[in-house]
Amino acid sequence: MSVEHAQVERADFDQVMVPNYAPAAFIPVRGEGSRVWDQSGRELIDFAGGIAVNSLGHAHPALVKALTDQANKIWHVSNVFTNEPALRLAKKLVAATFAERVFLANSGAEANEAAFKLARRYAHDVYGPQKHEIISATNSFHGRTLFTVTVGGQPKYSDGFGPKVEGITHVPFNDLDALKAAISDKTCAVVLEPVQGEGGVLPATQAYLEGARKLCDEHNALLVFDEVQSGMGRSGKLFAYQNYGVTPDILSSAKSLGGGFPIGAMLTTTEIAKHLVVGTHGTTYGGNPLASAVAEAVLDVINTPEVLSGINAKHDRFKTRLEAIGRKYGIFTEVRGLGLLIGAALSDAWKGKAKDVLNAAEKEAVMVLQAGPDVVRFAPSLVIPDADIDEGLDRFERAVAKLTQA
Ligand SMILES: *Cc1c(COP(=O)(O)O)cnc(C)c1O
Repeated sequence: MSVEHAQVERADFDQVMVPNYAPAAFIPVRGEGSRVWDQSGRELIDFAGGIAVNSLGHAHPALVKALTDQANKIWHVSNVFTNEPALRLAKKLVAATFAERVFLANSGAEANEAAFKLARRYAHDVYGPQKHEIISATNSFHGRTLFTVTVGGQPKYSDGFGPKVEGITHVPFNDLDALKAAISDKTCAVVLEPVQGEGGVLPATQAYLEGARKLCDEHNALLVFDEVQSGMGRSGKLFAYQNYGVTPDILSSAKSLGGGFPIGAMLTTTEIAKHLVVGTHGTTYGGNPLASAVAEAVLDVINTPEVLSGINAKHDRFKTRLEAIGRKYGIFTEVRGLGLLIGAALSDAWKGKAKDVLNAAEKEAVMVLQAGPDVVRFAPSLVIPDADIDEGLDRFERAVAKLTQA
């Protein structure tokens, strides 16, 4: 058999792929809504959503249509030309948010890279080169390029790659006094996730985001919200900042924005955007017609009162049941998060064992995530049917029962 058509299996991963991931033992091959099938035909319920990416589940008809319609028109033109899907997407993002200008990229890290570079360029142009310091939070996550991994507050991801980007400091999340002590007139930006995702599904407090906004204003620093995980309906509003009524100067989006097709976006104001003049920044694929067409369809479906209020109702459905499971089996101390980004914090007896919970869930045919070793994370489709929530949580409860009684 030719190599193109040879059967592949999980074991091949260890032979041909760089070993930076440790994927599950099965390979998903097909999905529909919130159900996924593996190579053997086994069906699983998907509460992982490709790590908060598959915002409309798998093979949503509106997204399949947007992608195939565009696939038959034009795939790529480069940034020497603009294209219709990118312009439509940008107009809709501007209409739906604080932003007046959009930069399209291919991933969350790239949206953040653009955000951080813009914050530095703006400060450089307006105040001078001494104003370049960036403050972010311990345990935050902003992507894997060298700049974004350095802004991210997790040494396990940033250390061991040689000299880092300079001028970056980290302060404990939700600690306004620590931010106040760190910020100065050399600060060009404060970077925060309104809900820390990878760091354990930790929502910012209202006072923290309000206080951060005030401190930024007092020190002429830009407030940057990384909404790669919390944005595009995930929190129950289109963007999480809208839950708090605290408006950033720059916002990054990705993950749910593409619903599974790679895209990222940086949103900002005209005043700030004007500092990225022609030639200062760019990307070959960013704002590609295929990605933009899909993201436009994602936005059209999610940004409706019905879908957004549905997300909040589904949050309650998850939370009530997860709290009951937590009490019954003594496994969770707290169920937290916004919308359909939910974290169940493990009790002392189960601390460090989130991976065991994932594995147990997979055996019962339900896919869940962890957010660090101590939190089980749920980031399902934003339109997951209630029946799939109930069935998936039945399976999850069976997994927890077996795990805790083993
Ligand atoms: C996933 C994530 C990123 C990185 O996005 P990529 O598309 O993997 O580059 C950045 N910030 C946050 C908050 C994320 O959750």
